[in-house]
Amino acid sequence: MAKYLFITGGVVSSLGKGITAAAIGSLLTSRGLRIKILKLDPYLNVDPGTMSPYQHGEVYVTDDGAETDLDLGHYERFTGIPSSKKSNVTAGRIYWDVLKKERRGDYLGGTVQMIPHISNEIKSRVRALDDEDVDIILCEIGGTVGDIEGSIFLEAIREIGLEEGRENVMYIHLTYVPYIAAAGEVKTKPSQQSVAKLREIGIMPDILICRAEVPLTMEVRKKLSLFCNVPLGNVIEECDVKHSIYEVPLVLSDQGIDELLLVHYRIAKPQADLAPWRKVINAIRNPIGEVTIGVVGKYQELQDAYKSIFEALDHGCIAHKRKLVLKKIASEDIERGVEGLLDDVDGILIPGGFGNRGIEGKIEAIRHARETGIPFFGICMGLQCAVIEYARNVCGLAGANSKEIDPDTDHPVVCLMEDQKEVKDLGASMRLGSWDCKLTEGTHSREHYGAPMIKERHRHRYEFNNDYRETVQKNGLTIAGTTPGGELVEIVEIQEHPWFVGVQFHPEFKSQPFNPHPLFKGFIGAAAEKRERTSPAPAEG
Ligand code: GLN
Repeated sequence: MAKYLFITGGVVSSLGKGITAAAIGSLLTSRGLRIKILKLDPYLNVDPGTMSPYQHGEVYVTDDGAETDLDLGHYERFTGIPSSKKSNVTAGRIYWDVLKKERRGDYLGGTVQMIPHISNEIKSRVRALDDEDVDIILCEIGGTVGDIEGSIFLEAIREIGLEEGRENVMYIHLTYVPYIAAAGEVKTKPSQQSVAKLREIGIMPDILICRAEVPLTMEVRKKLSLFCNVPLGNVIEECDVKHSIYEVPLVLSDQGIDELLLVHYRIAKPQADLAPWRKVINAIRNPIGEVTIGVVGKYQELQDAYKSIFEALDHGCIAHKRKLVLKKIASEDIERGVEGLLDDVDGILIPGGFGNRGIEGKIEAIRHARETGIPFFGICMGLQCAVIEYARNVCGLAGANSKEIDPDTDHPVVCLMEDQKEVKDLGASMRLGSWDCKLTEGTHSREHYGAPMIKERHRHRYEFNNDYRETVQKNGLTIAGTTPGGELVEIVEIQEHPWFVGVQFHPEFKSQPFNPHPLFKGFIGAAAEKRERTSPAPAEG
């Protein structure tokens, strides 16, 4: 029977609850425990698939094709454990399922209520992760304690504590301990009130993790312990980290959080092997040089819209001991003709995207990369734009476009999957989740992956149009990967270019700090080479 670990957040949002949960998960796996992680999101959307990046950041995609909250990306990056459809449940999904059961008559005419019907549905979603391969189910509750829509989730996790026995369940509350500069003081009151809210519903946190800008003094810790009713040793400090979020597992482990958990659950395991984390941190803290990557997209002002891309670029840099300098470039600024935007970059990456805004700017950036030999990496929409650029400027197909952008184009080099005769029976119109891809011998991609067959995650409707395969190949574009039967194009490359790769899938979802994705590693390697060629680093020492 699995043990349960619940993580709630208090005072304010954006405290990094997902990163904290992921870091705790990584410590537990480092101690040899088998864990599963789940995020409960109290909003009413049935899933995040249709939510705008403006409100919700990136949509993270699992192997089994679920469109989920970006926190699942943190879980996978920190623990290496793949998540699934079961790993993210929203309030909308819960209500939807309960109402469907009500319509079907499953409740036999009984009155359907928040407690027990909604709370039972939530509990069953948490328990659905329990099987013989799991020691601990780690469950993060989205939102902030005190939110109206979150209260039924708190009720459900309180009930699990009652039903499973308190020795099998732990509650961690992540809170904020602000430093008020005018008073020169750290304040514990918001934490006290947030814990009081939890206690109102019947949850007594076992551990308090305090996000803070300044280290907590013993006096402050004692105050938090007393007023929040948490043993002094269970008050953990999580100050802002200096270099990278990948320092968080070490910060928490230094304070013995994994030991607190294991003692509570009465599980004996050897100490965690944190050597891989130390190696990662060492590479981040002691880079041997920099690389500047221009990311040309349409949500540049948003921190979270390209979360997994930025992380995967970081992983590539860790592998090459380089410091990543991100240059976020709005594709519309390129369209407006803003000068010098691409001048000082060592590599250009075009991420995924939907709709036509900023497309011409992306195409222009690709032309620049292709013509000047700057390493280029196109992802999903990035590949589609690369194909359009190649068709227009190398194959001479004037006005070539994607049907998504121009449904009436004379040269629809990118079209809907169902437009392709080869793929009529390949499934639904949106390609979601993991698909096999066969790599072409002798290509960059085949070399980087080191394997003839790979699996990558997809999230798109449009595809390279097979009618144009011959034309682009004749003109020098290499098809470096396809679906196993050759039906759909998955990767394109230009062999004569230092590094020019476009992929129809999203490799960023499968990259980890100590296991960087081969294409991101290859891309950063090429960018670092370009950097050294054009501005050699000063000799070391
Ligand atoms: N809009 C494109 C499509 O649907 C690309 C999607 C993406 O980049 N994820 O095919």
